Amino acid sequence: MKNEKGSLIRPDALPASASRPVVTPLSPSVVYASDTPDMLDQQYEGKLQGYTYAREGQPNADVVGARLDRLEGAPHPGVVTSSGMAAVSAVLLGLTQAGDHVIGGNQLYGRSLRMMTEDLPRLGISTSLVDPSNLEAMRAAITPQTRVILVETVSNPTLQVADIHGLVALARETGVLLAVDNTFTTPRAFQPFAAGADIVIHSLTKLLAGHSDVLLGYVAARDAALNDRLRVFCVTTGMSPSPFDSWLAERGMLTFELRFDRAQATAAILADHLASQAGVRAVLYPGRPDHPGHERARSLLAGNFCNMVSFELDGGRAAANAFTRAAEGLSFAPTLGDVGTTISHAASSSHRTLSPEQRAALGMTEGFFRVSVGLEEPNSLCAIFTQAIRAAMEGKT
Ligand SMILES: *Cc1c(COP(=O)(O)O)cnc(C)c1O
Repeated sequence: MKNEKGSLIRPDALPASASRPVVTPLSPSVVYASDTPDMLDQQYEGKLQGYTYAREGQPNADVVGARLDRLEGAPHPGVVTSSGMAAVSAVLLGLTQAGDHVIGGNQLYGRSLRMMTEDLPRLGISTSLVDPSNLEAMRAAITPQTRVILVETVSNPTLQVADIHGLVALARETGVLLAVDNTFTTPRAFQPFAAGADIVIHSLTKLLAGHSDVLLGYVAARDAALNDRLRVFCVTTGMSPSPFDSWLAERGMLTFELRFDRAQATAAILADHLASQAGVRAVLYPGRPDHPGHERARSLLAGNFCNMVSFELDGGRAAANAFTRAAEGLSFAPTLGDVGTTISHAASSSHRTLSPEQRAALGMTEGFFRVSVGLEEPNSLCAIFTQAIRAAMEGKT
């Protein structure tokens, strides 16, 4: 880059160093200067690798993307997006048109559900919500207009396990694209591309970045042309990630596998502990033989049952309030995958727009909680739950 030595407006070249930094440098520059119009032509034509404008791509996002491509076995470089919902939106809006039909799992992430029920219909795209563990119901919902099926491998918050192998076969047979939101399971437990899915979606905000200080997403498609379409749609609609968020996400991902293994080991202990407590009506954990998706989780997730545990307390909303008040040291917060254990309450957050009857049909009562297990020492974590549940049972009477 040409630069007059000593300019106060633009930096001089960085100090020379024969050695290299061990940590990825943060590159906040929005614009990249080229030498000549010919050079810029070559960049836009892809003959010369070079960044131009950060909405179109920047090094920190590419570093994160390449890491996820490796973890997911993505056939082409995926797109890092400004949030997980941007990745969901890119698939649902960028690959469809008016007149199409989209099928979603009936327990998708709250905002994904909202997009299926509010935004797609407004744009002339009809939608159906179907239990992804019920292949026959999925088959029955497919029409000649169906373009995409969007499911979560393990879904929020009752930890239903999708029949991914069945859905892959159904999608191939009918020419529908199968998109899998792999946020809960992560590539540590499950790789949708290897199983035959067409599109993989992530919210990196959760386990992958892992520290609740970054909003970021990722989407990749098996087919090269679709993958390009997703990238162009994200750039055009401005779903691009910030360099700083990308940089933080990369740092978080360095410890992702360690964090995941530790959290899921503790989740198994906590699930059994909760099941032994008076006042707990039910525990939902795919690693427990009493979970309806246990057998499928076992074969699909190769012995990983992940870090999410849901349970139902006796005593309705009053007990739920007493429980969160007494659960000292745990954040009552609508997220998951943080280093600290977080608890969330579907009826007052993710599923608040549903009627009590609709929630009940999905198995969510006022006493229903979802726990995202973090990195606490397992015995102390169980002790916090013991005393908070006891307080809730005392408080409700
Ligand atoms: C959080 C989440 C999303 C949305 O991700 P954001 O980064 O919050 O936009 C999508 N799907 C699942 C399963 C999630 O948990």
